[in-house]
Amino acid sequence: ASNVDDSNTDSQAHAVWEKDKNHFIHPFTDFSTFHQQGCDIISDSDGIYVSDIKGNRFIDGIAGLWCVNVGHGRKEIGDAMAEQATRMAYFSTFNNLTNIPAAELSAKLASLAPAHLNHIFYTCGGSTANDVAVRLVHYYFNRIGKPEKKKIISRKNAYHGTTYMAATLTGIESNNWMFDTLDSHVSYLSEANCYRRPAGMSEAAYCDHLVGEFETRITELGADNIAAFIMEPIMGAGGVLVAPEGYHTRMQALCRQNDILLIVDEVVTAFGRLGHFFSSEKVFGLTPDIITCAKGLSSGYVPLGAALISDSLYEVLGTPQGKGGVLSTGFTYSGHPVSCAAALKNIEIMEREALCENIQRVGPYLETQLKTLKHHATVGDVRGSNFMMCLENVANKETGELLPLEARVGDRVAEEAQQRGLIIRPVGHLNIISPPLIWDEAIIDNVVAILDASFSAVTESLKKDGFM
Ligand code: PMP
Repeated sequence: ASNVDDSNTDSQAHAVWEKDKNHFIHPFTDFSTFHQQGCDIISDSDGIYVSDIKGNRFIDGIAGLWCVNVGHGRKEIGDAMAEQATRMAYFSTFNNLTNIPAAELSAKLASLAPAHLNHIFYTCGGSTANDVAVRLVHYYFNRIGKPEKKKIISRKNAYHGTTYMAATLTGIESNNWMFDTLDSHVSYLSEANCYRRPAGMSEAAYCDHLVGEFETRITELGADNIAAFIMEPIMGAGGVLVAPEGYHTRMQALCRQNDILLIVDEVVTAFGRLGHFFSSEKVFGLTPDIITCAKGLSSGYVPLGAALISDSLYEVLGTPQGKGGVLSTGFTYSGHPVSCAAALKNIEIMEREALCENIQRVGPYLETQLKTLKHHATVGDVRGSNFMMCLENVANKETGELLPLEARVGDRVAEEAQQRGLIIRPVGHLNIISPPLIWDEAIIDNVVAILDASFSAVTESLKKDGFM
């Protein structure tokens, strides 16, 4: 990181900082620190780097927020957006109207998705994709004469977004602190957390235990009352939790046996992060009724999400049994031409540069190199898959006991890394790493060296402050 010492830059930076602090209500930001510190202003970007307004440059270790998959500053995406914006920036997609990019993108997504998912409902992001998925599931069961099938099964520590329904599906308790949720609609199973599974239980027994919990829940609630099970293939914000071997297909089998639809939230896991455009089928052996996605779909260059709908659902939603009928849901911006043009260019880049193949090669290298950090005193677990990784900080590696909240260990690690030119994401005692898909081995070596130094510094500072 270089410091640009220029008073014009400084006063401009201060003015932006102040406007932001006074008027922007930031998502997921702690107001007790915000009012003193305000925000770091990220103003520029290029490839794997972002820079702040003062000219300090950082390696982006989180792809913006698990989304800038093709990397920053892709002029061709900007050009595609500009071209569409000046040709026809917006027109309705309601009432038998469409636009060229939306039609093209729909066919492209159908070709990339598992074979039975051929129908695309566009949204503005991941939360709205999950919201729509639930609405469509309820609508589907209403139309086939099973209106009592309403409950959605989610999991503790799941993250599905923050619209009312998506926030309810979200099982991270702290995320809903002081908020209301639509509790009567959702029932939560345990998350699959191999690191914190009951002591002495093998991974196979743990899998039996989790599947057994779902089985019991179905009996308790009655299959006739359950509409769908929603899951992230790997839980992201809840701590990058990789389920035990066999979990996904066994949970899916229970869904099938009980006429419960399967919604797979691939907002993070799609578009290359696990080495495939969609991971449900290729990585986890799943054939979902609905896949939701967002983030990497447009690499974050524009807001865009989608729910991919199976042929058999579409038969009811799209051609309602000879009666016709309006599917009365959708957004002004469903199939927004500029967003769809950006997504098409994004996918073209991913294919041309073989970014999924890059992850299949480099992803395992990131995993093994991050695991070398396990020797540090606070690193209790290093987990994840490919470019979706997490380090769990603990006080005691034997027991997994956590450091007290006041130790702010995740923040400390992120702050040390940032001082050394790398941005990673603190989530409580965790640090999440979810890079753009264009990292290579040399960058990974550099990143791991920065993290190595950062964890050493954190151990020292925790000792100095009496936490260790
Ligand atoms: N699902 C998952 C798995 C996510 O990680 C996120 C966002 N991090 C969402 C849904 C919500 O997406 P959005 O913030 O675009 O609404």
